[in-house]
Amino acid sequence: MSAQPFDSSANLRTDFSLLIGGELTRSSASLDVINPATGAVFARCPAAGRAELDRAVGAARRAAESWSALSFADRAAAIKRMSAVLRANQDSLAELLTREQGKPIGQSRDEIGRGATQSEGMAAIAIPVEKLSEDAERRIELRYRPLGVVGIITPWNAPINLAVGPLTAALYTGNTVVLKPSPYTPLSTLKLGELLRDVFPPGVLNVLAGGDDLGQWMTEHSGVDKISFTGSVATGKKVMASAAGTLKRVTLELGGNDAAIVLDDVDPKTVAPKLFFAACVNSGQVCMAIKRIYAHERIYDDLCAALAEEARKARVGDGLDPQTQYGPIQNKMQYEKVVGILEDTKRVGGRILAGGEVPKRPGYFIPPTIVTGIDESSRLVREEQFGPVVPVLKFSDVNDAVRRANDTRFGLAGSVWSHDPERAATIAARLEVGTAWVNQHRATSATVPFGGAKESGLGRQYSVLGLKENMEPQVVSVLKQPM
Ligand code: NAD
Repeated sequence: MSAQPFDSSANLRTDFSLLIGGELTRSSASLDVINPATGAVFARCPAAGRAELDRAVGAARRAAESWSALSFADRAAAIKRMSAVLRANQDSLAELLTREQGKPIGQSRDEIGRGATQSEGMAAIAIPVEKLSEDAERRIELRYRPLGVVGIITPWNAPINLAVGPLTAALYTGNTVVLKPSPYTPLSTLKLGELLRDVFPPGVLNVLAGGDDLGQWMTEHSGVDKISFTGSVATGKKVMASAAGTLKRVTLELGGNDAAIVLDDVDPKTVAPKLFFAACVNSGQVCMAIKRIYAHERIYDDLCAALAEEARKARVGDGLDPQTQYGPIQNKMQYEKVVGILEDTKRVGGRILAGGEVPKRPGYFIPPTIVTGIDESSRLVREEQFGPVVPVLKFSDVNDAVRRANDTRFGLAGSVWSHDPERAATIAARLEVGTAWVNQHRATSATVPFGGAKESGLGRQYSVLGLKENMEPQVVSVLKQPM
């Protein structure tokens, strides 16, 4: 997606600015933003070109010297102020987030609240100097230095949470930031930048909306030391290739095709609502949503029936309606992709137990859909559907279920569900994923590393591991002999 020339004459919400060097600025290009519940453009915001990017990177470089010289405690205090700003503006930001992203308003509020809580949690993690060895002659320490300027590029499914996590990690560890949201959902991130203008010194945080080309320029820019990228596998590979030109550090948080393995000893009625929510929350547009369910043949029919019941009960609609549980697909491109997968599913003989009919109404709505009898080689099973269409596959031997769950280039997360959590834990540890859950899915926190195995990513976010990805290890070796 790329930017258009700026035209302020249309009757749209246009109270958005870029944040560069502590100044709120416009630009000559713009992005139109669509409300996915209506399919209509409702806002227009400035879009940065190369000149704005150069200014933002310059401002970030200038700010880096004094920001990196602050103590962790001083930077943690600034992060705390950021969390307070998020909480104080939770309602207005949530409304904007729902308008641009589509998710139910309560979940937008949760996303913002979770961002605030996780930021505080990360900024409470100590990064001490580590003493590797010391004797009468020599002391060897391992220290961690900030990298410099971190470029953060985010997707459209959870714009605030996926910005605030990497932002906190980069800033708390002494880096400065240029942040670019997805062109589909730039507004809440721009508002966040505006709200944080006085929280951080000028240039420490810069926020630029723009097209995909802006993301590419960031990855090529010689003034950017690291890219923290969240998005699709295909774009993640481009980011890595392009970052190689300047040997930038990269953290890549990419797509997933998470399997949930449901063992023969569960109560189908108890697990079905949990599985359904973990698969369909945000209408399936979650990197770590359950995207394939493998159910033991003994409970298969009952589980499918219970999942179908959940799908029939689901209230789908405009996220601004407080009754809505599942909003639209965020954009037309993704909507057409999911509709295509749904059509392919029907064509290859998948049986639709619930949902499956795309309503003829404005907006990008697809109802939660439960599919059985689908072949392992189908698009629905092989691809990341990133929509509320969930295949339920049967197994009789748990070794076969593990093999099928692992038979993918994705490796983000997975889960095993059982009446016996320890039995499930042994099986979960065999999943080739960054996070393997037992009797839960999507549980993350500030102190627990998150990231993908295989093509689901590179590196980790959150926890001490995630913080250290924003720092360069430095050995200081001191020979105690005076010279
Ligand atoms: P995307 O890869 O299309 O876009 C992500 C961001 O990259 C956007 O800001 C986009 O403008 C930018 N971009 C596009 N081309 C670029 C390029 N050549 N160089 C640099 N930046 C570029 O992803 P999306 O469709 O916005 O998001 C959905 C994907 O994100 C899904 O695959 C989902 O699983 C994944 N995701 C992963 C995580 C995680 O933590 N692992 C979290 C959320 C979403």
